[in-house]
Amino acid sequence: MSRFVQPVPPPVDPYAGDGLLRSWLERHLGPAGHAAAKGRLADLAADVAGPLRAAHADAEAHPPTLVRYDPWGARVDRIDTSAGWQAQRAAAARHAVVALPYLPDARGTWGAAARVAQHALLHLYGPESATFSCPVAMADGAAALLSLPEVDNGVREAWLPRLISTDPAVAITSGQWMTESQGGSDLGRSSTIGRPAVDGSWRLTGEKWFCSAADAAMAVALARPEGSGRGSRVLAPFLVPRYAVDSPLAHGLAPGAPAPGVTVHRLKDKLGTRALPTAEIGLHDAYAVPLGDPAVPGLVRAMTLVVVTRVHNAAAAAGGMRRGLAYARAYADVRHVAGGALSSSPLHRATLGTLAVDAAGAFALAGHAFALLGRVEVGADPEAAAELRIVAPLAKLATGRLAVSSASEYVESFGGAGYVEDTGVPRLLRDAQVLPIWEGTTNVLSLDVLRALTREDAGAPLLARLAAAVDLARPLSPVLADTLASAAAQLDDTITSVTADPGSPTVLAGARGLALRLAYALTTALLVEHAAWGDEQAALAARLWARRWLRHEEIAEDAHHHLDLLC
Ligand SMILES: Cc1cc2nc3c(=O)[nH]c(=O)nc-3n(C[C@H](O)[C@H](O)[C@H](O)COP(=O)(O)OP(=O)(O)OC[C@H]3O[C@@H](n4cnc5c(N)ncnc54)[C@H](O)[C@@H]3O)c2cc1C
Repeated sequence: MSRFVQPVPPPVDPYAGDGLLRSWLERHLGPAGHAAAKGRLADLAADVAGPLRAAHADAEAHPPTLVRYDPWGARVDRIDTSAGWQAQRAAAARHAVVALPYLPDARGTWGAAARVAQHALLHLYGPESATFSCPVAMADGAAALLSLPEVDNGVREAWLPRLISTDPAVAITSGQWMTESQGGSDLGRSSTIGRPAVDGSWRLTGEKWFCSAADAAMAVALARPEGSGRGSRVLAPFLVPRYAVDSPLAHGLAPGAPAPGVTVHRLKDKLGTRALPTAEIGLHDAYAVPLGDPAVPGLVRAMTLVVVTRVHNAAAAAGGMRRGLAYARAYADVRHVAGGALSSSPLHRATLGTLAVDAAGAFALAGHAFALLGRVEVGADPEAAAELRIVAPLAKLATGRLAVSSASEYVESFGGAGYVEDTGVPRLLRDAQVLPIWEGTTNVLSLDVLRALTREDAGAPLLARLAAAVDLARPLSPVLADTLASAAAQLDDTITSVTADPGSPTVLAGARGLALRLAYALTTALLVEHAAWGDEQAALAARLWARRWLRHEEIAEDAHHHLDLLC
C-alpha cells in the first residue's frame, strides 16, 4: 500500500491575491498612483514567493551567534548572521521598504501617500522576512528622528542617506536601545547616563536589556544627560555608531572594527523572532552623538521614532494575519476531511471567514495609521497629527492582540502539521507573540490612550470620524449605521466620564477595555469608508466586523457563506 503524502499548495502571489490591498491602493493612491506602484509591488511579491521564502527559511534555521573573541583573544563582540538574513537585508534595501517615503521621486509621485505605498511594501515583505521587518521598522524610526530640524545637519548628512539607501552595499539599519532591566514600560527608571566630551560628542554609560538588530551599524539609545534630573521627560536620544563606517566616528578604527565602549553581553534565547539578534548590551563611555539638544527634554523627540515603530508593528501584525489566512485557505483546498475538501466544510469555512474579517480590520487600522503618518510628515497636517496621536497606540494594541489570536487559529487550521517545526507554520504563532509586547504592551498603550484622551482631547478627531462614518454607513446598511452610532454615543459618554476623574482606580482598571472599544469602533469606521468608496469586500467586512466586535454576535453563518468574497 502506498504511503499518503499530503500535497502542499504552492505559495500564492501576495499582491495579486490580495483584493483588499489592491482596492485600498486604488483608493488612496488613485488609479495613476496605483499604476505607478504596481511594478514595485509585483517585483517584491515575486521575490517574496521565491527567493525570500528560501532566505526566510535559512535565517530561521541558522540563528545569529555572538563571537566574543577573535582567535588571538581580542574582544570583538561580533554577531554572525546567516546568508538568509543577509539576503533579507539586501532585499529590504533594494525594494525600498524603509526608503520609499523619503525618496524625492516617491514624494513627487504620491505626496503624503508615499507612506501608503510603503505600507503596501511592508504588508508584502514582512511575513516572509524572518522578522527583518524589525530592523526595517527601527531604521525607519531612526530616519524619521534624524529628519527632525532639531537634529544637527552634520549628523543627519552622515547617517540619514545610509538609512534610506536602496543600494544593499550602502544601506544600514538601526537598533533602538531603550529598555533597561528595571524598566521597559517604565522609562522613568532608566539609569543610562550621558556625559558631554570635550569634542562635542557624548559618552554613554549604562546597561540596555533588550537590543534587537544588535548587528545594525548604529543604534538610537535613550540616556539621561548628566544633571538633567529624574523622570522620563528629560531622557534624550543619542546615536551610537556600532562600527567604524567611514565617518563620523573619529576613533582611527579600521572600517568594520567595533566602536569602543559597547559590550554585547549575550544574545537572548527568545520564544520567536529567532533570526533576529536581540542582545543585552553594556555601555561604558560609549561614543555617541546627540539627536537634538540634550538640554531640551528629549522624550518628545524620541516619540517620533516610537510612533513610526508602532505603526510598523501594526503593519507587521496585519501582514502576518493576511499571509496566515492565505496559507490556511490554500491548505484547506488541498486537505481532505470527511469525504471532501476541507474548504467545503461549512464549519471550517466559517472559521476562515471569521479570520478574514479580523485580517481586513487589522489591515484597515494599519493602513490608516500609515496614511495619517504621511500627512503629518508631508504638509505637517495638524488634523492628521491630532488623530495619529491616538491612532498609533490604538492600531498597535488592537492589531497585536488580533495577530496572536489569529496565529493560534492558523496553526490549528493545519492540524498536527501546524505544530511541526519544519512546516514553517509554528513560527506564525511564536513570532506573533512579540507584537503585543514590544513598543508598549496592551496595558501600557491603553494607559497612553487614556492620557491622550484626558490630557490632549484626542477623542475629538476619533469621534468626528465615527460620526462621519455613521452617515456613510446609512445607505450601505441601516443596522450597521445604528450599531456604529450607538457605539460612538457610548464612547462619547465614557470619554466624558473618564476625563472627569482620570486617576481613579475604576478608570485605570477600565483603560484596556476602553482602548479596545475605541479601536473596534474606529476599525468599523475605516471599513465603512472603504466600502462607501465602492469596495464590496470592505462592505461585507464592515458589517461582520461590527457584529463581531461591537455587538459581540456570532458571525459564523455569514462568514461561511461569503468566504470567497472575504478572502
Ligand atoms: C523580541 C523582543 C525584542 C525587543 N527589542 C527591543 C529593542 O530592540 N529595544 C528596546 O528598547 N526594547 C526591546 N524590547 C523590550 C520591550 O520593548 C519591553 O519588553 C516592553 O516594552 C515591556 O517592558 P518590560 O519588559 O520592562 O515589561 P514590564 O514593563 O515590566 O511589564 C510587565 C507587565 O506589566 C504590565 N505593566 C507595565 N506597566 C504597567 C502599568 N503602568 N500599568 C499596568 N500594567 C503595566 C505590562 O503590560 C506587562 O504585562 C524587546 C522585547 C522583545 C520581547
